[in-house]
Amino acid sequence: VPMILTDFLDRAVCLYGDKRAVIDHDGGRELTYGELNARVNRLSHGLRSLGVEKGDRVAYLAPNTLEMLEGFYGIFQLGAIMVPLNIRLKPDDYVFILNHSGAKVLFVDQDLLHLIEPVRDRLETVETVIVHYREDDADEVSYDEWLAQFPAGSFDREELDENDVCSLLYTSGTTGNPKGVMLTHRNNYLHALSVQHHLRVNDADTYLHVLPMFHVNGWGGPFYYTANGATHVCLRRALPESIYDAINSHGVTSVHMAPTVLNGLLQYYDSEKPQTGTADLRIVIAGSAPPPAFIRRVEDELGWEFIQVYGMTESSPLSLTSASRSAEAHLSDEQRIRLKAKAGYPMIGNDVRVVNDFGEEVPHDGKTVGEVVVRSNGVMKGYWKNEEATAGALRNGWLHTGDMGTIDEFGHVDITDRKKDIIISGGENISSIEVESTLYDHPGILEAAVIAVPHEKWGETPHAYIVLREGHELTGQEVIDFSRSKLAHFKAVTGVTIVDELPKTASGKIQKVHIRDDYWKRHGGASTAG
Ligand code: ATP
Ligand code: MG
Repeated sequence: VPMILTDFLDRAVCLYGDKRAVIDHDGGRELTYGELNARVNRLSHGLRSLGVEKGDRVAYLAPNTLEMLEGFYGIFQLGAIMVPLNIRLKPDDYVFILNHSGAKVLFVDQDLLHLIEPVRDRLETVETVIVHYREDDADEVSYDEWLAQFPAGSFDREELDENDVCSLLYTSGTTGNPKGVMLTHRNNYLHALSVQHHLRVNDADTYLHVLPMFHVNGWGGPFYYTANGATHVCLRRALPESIYDAINSHGVTSVHMAPTVLNGLLQYYDSEKPQTGTADLRIVIAGSAPPPAFIRRVEDELGWEFIQVYGMTESSPLSLTSASRSAEAHLSDEQRIRLKAKAGYPMIGNDVRVVNDFGEEVPHDGKTVGEVVVRSNGVMKGYWKNEEATAGALRNGWLHTGDMGTIDEFGHVDITDRKKDIIISGGENISSIEVESTLYDHPGILEAAVIAVPHEKWGETPHAYIVLREGHELTGQEVIDFSRSKLAHFKAVTGVTIVDELPKTASGKIQKVHIRDDYWKRHGGASTAG
């Protein structure tokens, strides 16, 4: 039986037809799985009427909405390919991605239409733009009215192969034009089965979509929560108050967010000291190198289970998780936090190794650093129309992640840094993540990002960009002294820039590229630090 993602919705409709499938937090709407399925069918019929066929690309420019969630399944029924677009790009970026992917239809959320209007006539392949107009916009045909023209009855699906591409996800393109990651039905299907096991997803779950669905298909959330008849809660903007409010209004059990977004939520708890709710929340999931200080707070102060995951767009995305052993009762608190602070053990269906420059595995000693390589059911088919980049990333069946890490005797991988973020000082490699994690232990530091800057004697040296917690005053020298008191001296920061905020991606990741640019603007000269 081929593994096709529409199976997941079919399952939910049969077993949980009357159960709440999705709650639109901002719009106050709710749908059962039966109702969701009817809308999905209407959408597939609508797409067919627009001439969309198997293999065609259909793009979405939307925040986390009910329309985006149903879009995945509406597109999959036709065997077409979902191209979700990052909502924080510039109009020119949309021109590149839409033309490169050859998208035929583009769905746009009403609030984001201004990003497309100025470049509409430069879109070479887009034949139809459909706007998600709301009912309250009297001047336009609402999206629901458009949808209502098409039958809700079952849709005669296209015959698919599990290795057919289901989504095309463009990377952020920090090093040139964005690349389109091709993920297949099989990739996402097996990724979903693996992740649902490790996160113990079940039909009592209510999942809050904080991570954007445009980013690697919302980390698979639209798939494994649907397959298990869980309830999706869609949230347009990941602001601390709205996350808090959504968690408490809908009995959310599970939430996944970037550490910076989690940090905002923790801060909200600090300042507002809310007493009620949150009893239903079962797990908080985060990737992107969460500092141990956050893990301790989530587990010990707020009483939620913390699960670290590691992955990248090119692998569907998740490959590692701390969830496997860290729940064991016999561990001391210190051991538990230390385990959770590591990306962890390979998830089912993943072979993850740490290799040296010659491709040989490094010793499993928890100390020797090498590149993390992944072979898994989730690894992409390749980059769309970019054979050169594909050959660079996939070598002998292994995905080269560009991330550095160690592996211990139990097979736990610890991500030490991105290859390009490592600081090489006096011949020693310094992990920017390690230095940042230490800085986060300081009560006055809200956010920290450490970059390499040139040093006459040592080649490079760590420099910290810091955002202070409200009500705290701290000088650069105090930050330097703190890092010297906690770290080996060669790892301590030697310079500090205190700023009001750090540049972040739409999913909340700190963008060191822009921090390096800022450093060079302040210190003159060209950006040569890489
Ligand atoms: P782009 O490749 O488009 O420039 P990106 O690499 O940030 O952007 P993603 O695929 O979303 O885009 O992110 C994957 C990367 O995030 C990983 O390669 C790794 O560097 C980092 N990452 C993810 N999870 C973790 C984790 N648990 N610990 C440390 N780093 C992580
Ligand atoms: Mg990447």
